Amino acid sequence: MRVLGIETSCDETGVAIYDTAFTGGQGLLSDALYSQIAMHAEYGGVVPELASRDHTRKLLPLIEQVLKDANLTRQDLDGIAYTAGPGLVGALMVGASTAHGMAKALNIPVLGVHHMEGHLLAPMLEDDAPEFPFVALLVSGGHTQLVEVQGLGHYQLLGESVDDAAGEAFDKAAKMLGLAYPGGPLVAKLAEQGDPKRFRFPRPMTDRPGLDFSFSGLKTHTLTAIRQLEAAGELDEQAKADVARAFEEAVVDTLVIKCRRALDQTGLKRIVMAGGVSANTRLRERLALETQKRQARAYYPRGRFCTDNGAMIAYVGAQRLAAGERDDNGVMQATPRWPLDTLNAPE
Ligand code: ATP
Ligand code: MG
Ligand code: FE
Repeated sequence: MRVLGIETSCDETGVAIYDTAFTGGQGLLSDALYSQIAMHAEYGGVVPELASRDHTRKLLPLIEQVLKDANLTRQDLDGIAYTAGPGLVGALMVGASTAHGMAKALNIPVLGVHHMEGHLLAPMLEDDAPEFPFVALLVSGGHTQLVEVQGLGHYQLLGESVDDAAGEAFDKAAKMLGLAYPGGPLVAKLAEQGDPKRFRFPRPMTDRPGLDFSFSGLKTHTLTAIRQLEAAGELDEQAKADVARAFEEAVVDTLVIKCRRALDQTGLKRIVMAGGVSANTRLRERLALETQKRQARAYYPRGRFCTDNGAMIAYVGAQRLAAGERDDNGVMQATPRWPLDTLNAPE
């Protein structure tokens, strides 16, 4: 089954075609992405109305492009999947209405899928894909969650952030350091020059049992450190790099400690990391080290499939459409808030 996937939940227009006749990365026939980041950077964050309008402008040309890249026409498509949530409602509606319009015109099935299920299964697009069951650490701009995954649609939430998401904390720390949006990659880059011994930030919620996270205190800690340096007239480039390093070390350490606990608690030997923050090099290195120690293995999507993309939506949609799932009564969905653990396996 050849499925067109459409992602428009936030500030990335992603489109791809996945064919279930193949497995892993072989099934991905083409994918294209248009990032609105440059447009939103001017405002220091995503402006929802601008995001919706830009998706409207970019979506159809991107669909034409992926068809052309795969040497296909619209008539060769067997189904369409789109991100139905969570995300910005206006942005979601652009993808949902385009998918439904196209599916009706082509008389093919259509299904809204969960954005975080897309992130979670993005490592399935690699040749070296993990087998079920595994623990997943979802670390993105809006989510920080540990999930026990027994199979497609079998997701048990083990823990999550009680306040800010890890990516959001990176973005806020970046702002305080005078860096552009989105700040995660920029904080990581600055941290490379930083001295890991100059400051030590706390590892929130690691001193008690449990798999929940909290990152808002770290944000306050970062602000306090910057203000103190500023007051002392010491806030030079090196000091900023040292703060970035302390911040990154604290986030990475906290995430890795909880991953270790999740592996111990579940007894599983595979951990999948996905979402924008999973592109972080230090986090990947630290997790690789920890998993090696316990004969476990870590899996990640390739760099560009860590952040939002159409390929992950085409993949999830293709699995579920092939199993016979369709949007209820042909009604399009756009669900801004939608907990991952309410999903079910296809029947
Ligand atoms: P969600 O998927 O929860 O709705 P989102 O789609 O906005 O949120 P993603 O696109 O998956 O999130 O990821 C974007 C986030 O990842 C941003 O917060 C960004 O700063 C962060 N990020 C990207 N690369 C890195 C990196 N190398 N180090 C740390 N953070 C990073
Ligand atoms: Mg994004
Ligand atoms: Fe995302």
